[in-house]
Amino acid sequence: MKIVIVVPCYNEEPVLATTTDVLLHTADEIMRRHGMETYLLFVDDGSMDRTWELIGQCARRDARVHGLKLSHNRGHQQALWAGLEWASVHSDAAVSIDADLQDDTDVIPDMVDMFRNGKDIVYGVRRERKTDTLFKRWTAQTFYRLLRWMGGDVLYNHADFRLMSRRAMLALLDFPERNLFLRGMVYSLGYPHDVVYYDRSERKAGESKYPLRKMLSFALDGITSFSVRPLR
Ligand code: UDP
Ligand code: MG
Repeated sequence: MKIVIVVPCYNEEPVLATTTDVLLHTADEIMRRHGMETYLLFVDDGSMDRTWELIGQCARRDARVHGLKLSHNRGHQQALWAGLEWASVHSDAAVSIDADLQDDTDVIPDMVDMFRNGKDIVYGVRRERKTDTLFKRWTAQTFYRLLRWMGGDVLYNHADFRLMSRRAMLALLDFPERNLFLRGMVYSLGYPHDVVYYDRSERKAGESKYPLRKMLSFALDGITSFSVRPLR
């Protein structure tokens, strides 16, 4: 059994070394608890800084580290999709997580527990949004209400921190969809699933790679992918 941890990276030079150390520690823990090999897959989403070079350095230091490089900046969701394509071939389950360590890596072995107990998808859900700014909290809440009102369904306070079994990944990759809103698409798959709760912390280094422009375009993808109301 193999687990791959997929990490999309866009200009993550300041945090990458720490992220690698922390995730390799998680890999050790999974090996200890479950006897499963765990690999890291960093997907460089066309970074302009030294991200790719650092991924190379980490890979030379530890054979469990792998890298995938997109030809240019295609966005978080596309980078994650590319990573899952790779993971669906090379693993039995994949965990997706952001590079900035805002999500709690300590719950990853718990996700693997649930996977071993027959769950195909395990959603990481934030207990609260204490570390987010008031603005971010308000825009997020408004967006989810709007999406639900339009008929789209997502799991509240879940972003893209989740485990997916191989068959769940293959079902996801069957979508011909190109404007990706993964948290909605995965949620629509069904399959046995469970939830782990965690506290989201602050970004460990660097700055957010989601300026308002990208956030709005992502929100729009979410709405137009799951609702015909605006069209009507
Ligand atoms: N990201 C990416 N491509 C982009 C923007 C972001 O691969 O065009 C990655 C980024 O490196 C990080 C994740 O997506 O691993 C989430 O970004 P970030 O943490 O900056 O978003 P925020 O937490 O501020 O919403
Ligand atoms: Mg972040």
